[in-house]
Amino acid sequence: MTTLDVFQFPYMSDNYGVLLHNKDTSETAMIDAGDASAALSALKQRGWSLTHLLLTHHHADHIAGMHEIKSKTNCKIYGPEGIDGVDEVVGGGDRFDFAGNEVQVLHTPGHTMDMLNFYLPDQSLAFTGDTLFTLGCGRLFEGDAATMWNSLSKLISLPSDTWIYGSHEYTQANAKFALSVDPNNKLLQQRAEQIDTLRADNKPTVPSKLSDELKTNPFLRPDDADIRALLNMQDATDEAVFAEIRKRKDNF
Ligand code: ZN
Ligand code: FE
Repeated sequence: MTTLDVFQFPYMSDNYGVLLHNKDTSETAMIDAGDASAALSALKQRGWSLTHLLLTHHHADHIAGMHEIKSKTNCKIYGPEGIDGVDEVVGGGDRFDFAGNEVQVLHTPGHTMDMLNFYLPDQSLAFTGDTLFTLGCGRLFEGDAATMWNSLSKLISLPSDTWIYGSHEYTQANAKFALSVDPNNKLLQQRAEQIDTLRADNKPTVPSKLSDELKTNPFLRPDDADIRALLNMQDATDEAVFAEIRKRKDNF
């Protein structure tokens, strides 16, 4: 099993694109395509030719560059139903091959209903789009809290050593909010400091380990006794506690 080279690059104001490259087969995949010129210059910088483009959802900051990238690279485009120009429509439970690696497709609706996440078990990589961010989760534009909680539960059950690649650098704001609902969490306090240091140096806080998210991301922790006590929701369901945390973040 060849370990894939991973190259993450920023685009627009706070998005991340990711390139995955297998040096033995010379195949390269990219997750999302919001900005063609940023993507094409990342490929040029590495000297890699794009063969696979994996789209998470229909928002412009994830797909606006797809047609230009297709015309310049002739990559094969995988993505959800409903996006014009996708070569292979995929959905939850589907699997396909990238350069000898199984890519498992997870359907994680909530932010949008078409949201797909891509999990590469052999490489311990998960591309979580606008579903799961470092210390945060996506806003509920199309789905409700119950739908999003069900989606996050799929990610919670991945192996805890999985690297989580969310699509945005929202982490400092997420950390401030997380501390407001989980103020006595020592690991969260430490992480918030590390995040401030990284951002002061203009370094990314993405990816993060799922094991760290499980201990510090409040959206994955509606079962936590301290969070429940602060919200005065000791006897509520996880789904109801999640809904309250999401609502507070919207108004934070
Ligand atoms: Zn989005
Ligand atoms: Fe986005």
